[in-house]
Amino acid sequence: MKKVLIMALVVTAFIFSISAMVANGVKQPVETELSAKELYQSVVSLEDPEPEGEKAPEDLQEFNETSPELNLPEAVPLTFDQSTVIQVQDGDTVLEIPMDTYLQGVLLGEMPASFELEAMKAQAVAARTFTLKTMESKKHEQSDVCTDSACCQAWENPETSNLIPDHQAKLAAAVSQTDGQVLTYQDSLIDATYFSCSGGLTESAVAVWGNDVPYLQSVESPGEENAARYEGEVSVDKGVFVSILASAKPEVRLTGDPQTWFGEVIYTSGGGVDTMEIGGCQFSGPQLRSLFGLNSTMFTIEETEETIIFHTKGFGHRVGLSQYGANARAAFGEKYDQILAYYYGGTQIKTLSPT
Ligand SMILES: [Zn+2]
Repeated sequence: MKKVLIMALVVTAFIFSISAMVANGVKQPVETELSAKELYQSVVSLEDPEPEGEKAPEDLQEFNETSPELNLPEAVPLTFDQSTVIQVQDGDTVLEIPMDTYLQGVLLGEMPASFELEAMKAQAVAARTFTLKTMESKKHEQSDVCTDSACCQAWENPETSNLIPDHQAKLAAAVSQTDGQVLTYQDSLIDATYFSCSGGLTESAVAVWGNDVPYLQSVESPGEENAARYEGEVSVDKGVFVSILASAKPEVRLTGDPQTWFGEVIYTSGGGVDTMEIGGCQFSGPQLRSLFGLNSTMFTIEETEETIIFHTKGFGHRVGLSQYGANARAAFGEKYDQILAYYYGGTQIKTLSPT
């Protein structure tokens, strides 16, 4: 921070010198070395002239970032995230961008700006891992990943999003402070799945996708109550309820007293609905979630005169890292590696080198 402040002051002095020369119509050599020294002495003599958290004005930040002679006097080797260029399918366009720009856009698309830095760093490592794993799988023919959140990961272009400087700095820090870091299990990249909010308990991979994954098990995830979709509700007209289920399973029998429609419910270890018997048929939790557009598989059913109401908790598949849970843990003082170790039990963080 002090370096940035000094640099900003040097730049300010430089600009003022130029302005003064232009105003006077006089060309003079600019003694930047002396100015820097003087400014440094004046800065170190002050206790803390800048309020905590305040950033340098945006124009000076830009000047700083785009002045290689000030910032990068010699060739500095690129980091993993800077040197790894990936192809991102964004609508009809394929963008070729470095990993750091891509990951900042994923954070922008996936997490609220107000989230804690350590939660964002955890998300950055998960997103980097998810990206490289997707690239390994060759899911897309024309690109490495796409910007459809239902397919790959949400993404917003950080260079055209009019971010406030504080938010921009937080995104950049979350990515650069975890540069090249990925999650591994037995030396392989993990399936770093993540989601918005668990409703208090995450789900195991086997409960949702049928394959048991050692590092994707159900864990408690407290502190998510302030998430917008911690609780949700979907109200369905009874006639619509019957027709939707009949379209999925024509053999379903939903006649007579609606209280007799619902049979045994089996829950997963993560508190979601594993199977629910309705009208003599077995429906899985994920199937019901899909059919009725529920926030999650953690739900209960209420029957009223006209409607069937689903009361949900959490949002997303609830497997892996909970974003709101990660933010709660970060606010409680946990670092990003502790957060990742909690949600992806038994995994290790490894740092990839630039190629
Ligand atoms: Zn995709």
